[in-house]
Amino acid sequence: MKSISIRPIGVIHSCFTEKFGIPRQSGMVKSATAFLELLPPFNREEMVRELDSFSHIWVHFLFHQAVEEGWKPTVRPPWLGGKKRVGVFATRSPHRPNHMGISAVKLIDIKREKKTYVLSLAGIDFLDQTQVLDIKPYIPYSDCVGTATEGYARYVERDRPEIEVVFSKEATLFCITYEQKTGRKIRLLTEEVLMQDPRPASQKEGRSEFGMMLWDINIRWQVKGRQFEVLECWKVQ
Ligand code: SAH
Repeated sequence: MKSISIRPIGVIHSCFTEKFGIPRQSGMVKSATAFLELLPPFNREEMVRELDSFSHIWVHFLFHQAVEEGWKPTVRPPWLGGKKRVGVFATRSPHRPNHMGISAVKLIDIKREKKTYVLSLAGIDFLDQTQVLDIKPYIPYSDCVGTATEGYARYVERDRPEIEVVFSKEATLFCITYEQKTGRKIRLLTEEVLMQDPRPASQKEGRSEFGMMLWDINIRWQVKGRQFEVLECWKVQ
């Protein structure tokens, strides 16, 4: 078959500036936000006209940071504790032949900004600088299949004991100041990300302190059983 070429229509500016901490699917961390900037020649008002009449959209994108790592015909999905292998087409893994991702996300608004159009999104699961290949409206009566089954992705997340997230005094103070300055709800975002337990299966034993980046903030946290304590946050220069 002849190969086809596609080009990005936009680029993502995401709260997830590194892979660690990104939820496994869209919609799982409601306070995870991003801006989708349309790139020329697609940065035209007419191309997004009436899109804001929808509450949610599908974003098709390139898993740009997985391209160099290639792909494998089988994958060990985190839903199965990283143990069992299933076919790549039975997963949502970034390591797939065309490295294409798809996410249903909330469309907050569309604004004109410096000669382009910027879509503000929530409930996202993509990395900063992700290249966007397409945008489509989410149509609930067709896209939301009430009778769909969950396959092997059924169990863990929901049956897992709840994680309690607490903040040290220092972390609390940092979040208050940061929120006042930027308007970004860093505390809620940190809490929601940690409640998903972002640790890979391989890191669950032997370590108790972890770090992650959200926007331009480094966050250090400690695991104490089912309680995760945010110890310290600081801005990366
Ligand atoms: N909803 C999408 C993505 C699911 S996989 C889909 O089903 O296609 C989600 C994981 O992809 C995240 O945990 C993150 O680690 C990874 N990811 C997100 N954006 C990426 C990017 N641009 N490059 C590589 N990996 C990315």
